[in-house]
Amino acid sequence: MEILKNRILECAEVIDGKILKVDSFLNHQCDIGLYNRIGQEFKNRFAKSDITKILTIEASGIGIACITAQYFGVPVVFAKKGTASNFTGEIYKSKVYSFTKEKHYEIIVAKKVLSEQDRVLIIDDFLANGNAVRGLIDILGQAGAKPEGVGIVIEKMFQKGRHEIIKMGIRLESLAVIKSLEQGKIIFE
Ligand code: 5GP
Repeated sequence: MEILKNRILECAEVIDGKILKVDSFLNHQCDIGLYNRIGQEFKNRFAKSDITKILTIEASGIGIACITAQYFGVPVVFAKKGTASNFTGEIYKSKVYSFTKEKHYEIIVAKKVLSEQDRVLIIDDFLANGNAVRGLIDILGQAGAKPEGVGIVIEKMFQKGRHEIIKMGIRLESLAVIKSLEQGKIIFE
């Protein structure tokens, strides 16, 4: 997606040759015009899939998932991090290792918001090693819901996330795919 790649080249910062900081349009300040283009692009790419729900993880995925959901006309469910004491009823849970925070955390989703009738599009801002997405797929498995695909805004293909998703037979669509961030230089696929 050219407009996204251009914005990355203009505004992103590279940290330690492996992390991309995009706080000016995606992870802190949000460019809603760009979010709309992203939502439309996900809709185009998954036009033939019969999606009933979008699933993401708090916090950065929520905004993108909500805008994208407007193009699909379906609800968004976001997995909460940590044990939510205000959750009554039963929950699905999974464990995720955070690439940026370098620690494990638990994600939870209430059983009442996902069912085996759901065909789900998973949306997230970044794909690195695929731990967040695998946690969400694990929760879909517990619910008996079908993962129709994974939509990622920025994929770092030099990490193993793509491989992890593809080997499960799940379709992956990434809007900007980065081959390398070595020496602070952003190289797209
Ligand atoms: P994974 O679970 O695929 O290893 O990492 C994906 C998650 O970690 C995303 O939800 C995102 O929040 C965060 N993440 C991974 N790599 C980056 C990065 O380069 N930049 C930013 N801003 N977040 C990242």
